[in-house]
Parts: sequence; C-alpha cells; structure tokens
Amino acid sequence: MKSLAINFWPTCSNRCVFCFCTEHDLVAEDLTPPSVHSAADVGKALVANRNECDWVILSGNEPTLNPDLLVVIMLAKRIGYRVDLRTNGRRLKDRTFCRRLLKAGTDRINITLLSADADIHDALSGAPGAFADTVAGIRNLVSLGDPEAITVYIVVTRKNVAWLEKHVTYLHALGIRDIQFNCVYHTDSDVVPSLSDVEQPLQAAIRTAVGFGMRVQVYGFPACFLGEYAGLASELTKSNEVMLGSRITDYHSVRTDLGKRKTKYCAGCMAGPVCEGTWKSYYGIYGEEEFKKRAIKRGSIYPKDPKKKS
Ligand code: SF4
Repeated sequence: MKSLAINFWPTCSNRCVFCFCTEHDLVAEDLTPPSVHSAADVGKALVANRNECDWVILSGNEPTLNPDLLVVIMLAKRIGYRVDLRTNGRRLKDRTFCRRLLKAGTDRINITLLSADADIHDALSGAPGAFADTVAGIRNLVSLGDPEAITVYIVVTRKNVAWLEKHVTYLHALGIRDIQFNCVYHTDSDVVPSLSDVEQPLQAAIRTAVGFGMRVQVYGFPACFLGEYAGLASELTKSNEVMLGSRITDYHSVRTDLGKRKTKYCAGCMAGPVCEGTWKSYYGIYGEEEFKKRAIKRGSIYPKDPKKKS
C-alpha cells in the first residue's frame, strides 16, 4: 500500500533556511504540490484514494496551523487510514492541543528539531523562540502519548553538523526513541555541508543513537558515505507516496527522476541497484569528485542493520 501525502496548509510559523517548500529550483520546476486544505477537499481525496493508500501524511508548510486539522484527522480515522503528522512542533507546546491531537487518533508524529542548541535551532528555523516551543511540544507529546510513535527529524546542515552527537544525547534525554537524519536539499554552500565533512560526525551520531537503543533512519545520503550504516537508508523501506494537486503524482518519481542522481564514478558500484546517489542540487555546489573511488566493489553492501524500523 502507498501513503497519501497532503500539503495541508500553505504557511508556516518558521522560516527554515533550507525549506523545501520555498526552495527556488523546486518551485521553478513546480515540484512542490499546492496546498489542499479544506476539510471538504481533503475528505474527497481520502475517499478517492483509500483503496490505494493506508496512511495519510498531513504536512505543509505547517499543518497544525490549519483550523480543520482535528476534524480531518478524525475523518481519516473513520475512513480507515492511519495518520502521520509532519510538524515543526511549535503548536504542541499547548498541552490541551497536544492531548486533542492524540485523542483524535493521530498515529505518528514527526517533529523537526535541528539542534540541542537553542541558538542554532532558532537560526536554522529563522524564528527566534522556535527551539523553546518545539522542545516544550516534544515534552508534552512524550508525557501524554507513546514515545515509540514520535520521530524527530534532523536536517543535517553546515551549521549543525559538528553537533550531531550532542543532539542525539539530548534527544535521548528528552525521551525520544526514533530519529531520522535528512540530507539537506539546497543550492547554497553556506547551508549544505560537503558529504566528506558530514561522513564522520554523522556516523558517530548514528553509533551513539544505536548505542542508546534508538531506532535510526537516514534519508538522502548516498550509501558510500554511510559506512556500516548504509542499511538504515529510509529509501530502502519507504512506501511510495501519492501526491495531490501537482503535475507530479508520486514521491518516488520526484526523488529518483527529478530530485536525485548518481555520478560518473558510480559505474560498477555494488550499491548501484538500490542507491539513488544524492540531490542534484548537491552536485551544483560540490561537483562529483568526492565520489571518485567511492564505488563499493566487494563485500556486503549493507553489512550492518542494527535497528531497522519494522
Ligand atoms: S558510488 Fe554511487 S552508486 Fe555507489 S554508493 Fe556511492 S553514490 Fe551510490
């Protein structure tokens, strides 16, 4: 089965420096689906796609700003969907709202927290005070709901890459048990670190998280920079997403046909059949030379898969 992905609200309380919804080359290519946010329109889409999809993903910009959110979650549950909410977590600082979200039947909540350092998170979010709000939201969720149903997303950027291990320790102390590191999509070298600079701190942070018993996934990173953790790539297990209201109808094609590509050095790599390379925007900044001699020639491609999600 697939997931039905809905861009559920057109604005956000953050202004993340790497925001996928405002990234110029994506907008130019019309890859960001328009918002479908009235309860009536979403209801029609839920009914129309039920045979193909078992999850609905409510994202945005920021879905918790939509006044119809609770109604739509209850509607989706009644139609038989499981509900996945993707949020910056700021509204969840309101404990009553948090309780209502859970009572409505939300099955999984994915929150982005970019650093354990308030200044770094606020700078990357473009919103002073965002860190305090999001952390308060995480604390509410952990205390009111099932910590196993919360995932924290960490977008790896030039500003937070050196602090990933500390971030993991902080999240573990907050009660988080499930994290995902995302490779940033952007055209600016001030935002995007080189994969060579990411490789060591990312693997160290994963090692720390696995040591804590946390579930870990990574997204957007090529296998040859993940070492023994290549098996944690979410692309290997992610179900396809049907997208509404766009010339692009499914997320797999956005990723593999438009968003990512491999390099001239990838020929003969054992990971080739499953690795998608990385974002095209990355090669525009750093070129392909880092991939020279990276092709995996022997041995098991995915030797270790310590805590793969079910
Ligand atoms: S060399 Fe190319 S195909 Fe092989 S893991 Fe790296 S990016 Fe993927």
